[in-house]
Amino acid sequence: MSELIQISKNGDIGIITVNNPPVNALSPGVPDGIAAGLAVHIADPDVKAIVLIGGGRTFIAGADIKEFGKVVSGQSKGHSLLPLMLAMEDSPKPVIVALHGTALGGGLEVAMGGHYRVAVPSAQVGQPEIKIGLIPGAAGTQRLPRLAGVELAAQMCAFGESITAAKAHEAGIVDAIIDGDLLACAVAFARAQTARPKPREREIQSFDPGIFEKLRAQARKSHRNQTAPLAAIDAVEAATVLPFAEGCLRERELFNECLYGPQSKALIHSFFGEREVAKVPGTGKNLPVREIKRAAVVGAGTMGGGITMNFVNAGIPVRLRETTQEALDRGMAIIRKNYANSVAKGRFSQEVMEQRLALITPQLTWDGFDEADIITEAVFEGMALKKDIFAEIDRIAKPGCILASNTSTLSIDEIASATGRPQDVIGTHYFSPANVMRLLEIVRGAATGIDVIATCMALAKTLKKVGVLVGNCRGFVGNRMIHCYGREAQFLVEEGAAPEQVDAALYEWGMAMGPLAMGDLAGLDVGWRIRKEFKHLEVPGVRIPHISDELCERGRYGQKTGAGYYKYDENRKPSPDPAVMEIILEVAARAGLDRREIFKQEILDRTLLSLANEGANILEEGIALRPVDIDIIYLTGYGFPAYRGGPMFYADSLGLNTVLKRVEEFGWEPAPLLIKLAGEGRTFAQWANEVK
Ligand code: NAD
Repeated sequence: MSELIQISKNGDIGIITVNNPPVNALSPGVPDGIAAGLAVHIADPDVKAIVLIGGGRTFIAGADIKEFGKVVSGQSKGHSLLPLMLAMEDSPKPVIVALHGTALGGGLEVAMGGHYRVAVPSAQVGQPEIKIGLIPGAAGTQRLPRLAGVELAAQMCAFGESITAAKAHEAGIVDAIIDGDLLACAVAFARAQTARPKPREREIQSFDPGIFEKLRAQARKSHRNQTAPLAAIDAVEAATVLPFAEGCLRERELFNECLYGPQSKALIHSFFGEREVAKVPGTGKNLPVREIKRAAVVGAGTMGGGITMNFVNAGIPVRLRETTQEALDRGMAIIRKNYANSVAKGRFSQEVMEQRLALITPQLTWDGFDEADIITEAVFEGMALKKDIFAEIDRIAKPGCILASNTSTLSIDEIASATGRPQDVIGTHYFSPANVMRLLEIVRGAATGIDVIATCMALAKTLKKVGVLVGNCRGFVGNRMIHCYGREAQFLVEEGAAPEQVDAALYEWGMAMGPLAMGDLAGLDVGWRIRKEFKHLEVPGVRIPHISDELCERGRYGQKTGAGYYKYDENRKPSPDPAVMEIILEVAARAGLDRREIFKQEILDRTLLSLANEGANILEEGIALRPVDIDIIYLTGYGFPAYRGGPMFYADSLGLNTVLKRVEEFGWEPAPLLIKLAGEGRTFAQWANEVK
């Protein structure tokens, strides 16, 4: 028997325990091990029924995702679960599957191969494969509709959400809920089944045939452009028209289309990427991190309020300082409104809201800042102001306190120079809305201590953010790249495209919103002010876009003023504005541009490839640790579609030679790393592997 599987007996009940920590994934050896255990118990004349259970904290939580990549790259033939499921199904002795923790994906499929399922109340079951661009591949789409009914099964397979044991019981996926010791009760349940005939495979129950079209429409909306949810619905529909065995074949076909298609590769890249970015050279289990028990925030504006919410949501009390009572009241009112919205949506109770609010001490003084373990500054973006604040908090903060700035463009080193402890100064760059967006860029200054970095990476986890370490340069990683993207979007408009045409092309391609609509949302005046501050850095002869600034000059700051690239109604619904076209024509004429027709492909390439080209510069300068760090920044902070993997993954998938050719056609300066890798026929991912 493999180490991954143990067999034992309790009287006349045979037990098979899966022990593949941490989550009992279906790694090579697990399915075969279970099948071997089954054979032993079936051959044992004393055994009347068999219990399959997970050791440790969960039943089988899913497939071993690494295996999928190996199959696609030809390194592995894959490990079909089908032989195991047939063995379970054909067992002459009833097989009872005992569930705790999570039975997801292949885990639920294995469970459904048994004759009965019992579960503890806290167990969860689901078919989340679509989250990595796949569908169930071991009869899940065929068995689930027979157990749970077509509608619930189609929903579970198409949207990937898991359900509770209680719901699974109600739906017929689970036969009994166990209150008490799972193994002991599962054994008792098994014993009760020995005298009964095994249940026959259930028939598809009647269902509303309109359900598939309804779910497809829903999936096209909630999972725009994604193929797996639609494939999952097709597979469940196949279960309703084909006999079981043929349905399984159809499922396999659809599964393989997903597995060998581009979206699952991108989604799997993003799945592992989120784990990869947590690995920072020099940090690790042995490096002690500082404890963050109390926090303080300077500035209760858009960002300060959201940052405060992040801390208190994690149970960390916050001292929140403002300069005027009015600003403080405004900031607290927004926090309260955000929480009240969550209560109204049923996310948590009024009591939880009150507890969270009670953790915030709004104030106009520096009281209690000397007790904080981290002080986060989120005041207006201006170097002089930030330096004043850091000089002040340097005087007040206790030794070992982390001094963090939420600046989006300014140098962390210069900010740190205002203090006598640059080793404690770091950038923690949240994204708006800070209480919602998952990205946290952690900006390392030249002197930032490695333990401060490690503490902030750990803090990101505590705050349920994805922390990505970046270097100190103007705009760091995300904004430095978005600057190129936004610039190209504006150029396209100056050269002939309408704003809505640029936005539609990128939205349809998969971005959460188009670049110009995004500018309107963030406030065009933010960039306008920054450009004014950095005017001295403009290089004569280098083309700069003028549209956004021109809109700001006319008071069109975006949504906040009801007008920017679009005009907005009272519900912030945008519509194209002829006045904007007049401004565009004026700017184009002034710049001597002959406007021309611009096609979708040019819009996509000029914006998206500008990200990859700048990303290559960022990599070579060491501002990002790896290409995947850039990808994760874009997936978690900029609405880049996960099924396209991020800007660097996307460039790799086009082929860097193709990317370089386009970059040259556009007359941009190609990043040296792009030239090098394109010349060598390699990808950013291959380069990263070698650098490692
Ligand atoms: P904001 O104007 O909404 O808020 C700034 C707040 O700081 C104001 O309420 C102001 O009263 C307060 N303030 C000014 N001086 C202060 C002082 N001495 N003590 C206490 N409070 C003081 O600005 P914001 O959008 O929240 O931006 C704050 C910082 O976050 C900036 O550095 C900005 O670049 C950065 N940032 C903004 C965004 C964004 O999308 N808004 C995203 C990431 C980072």
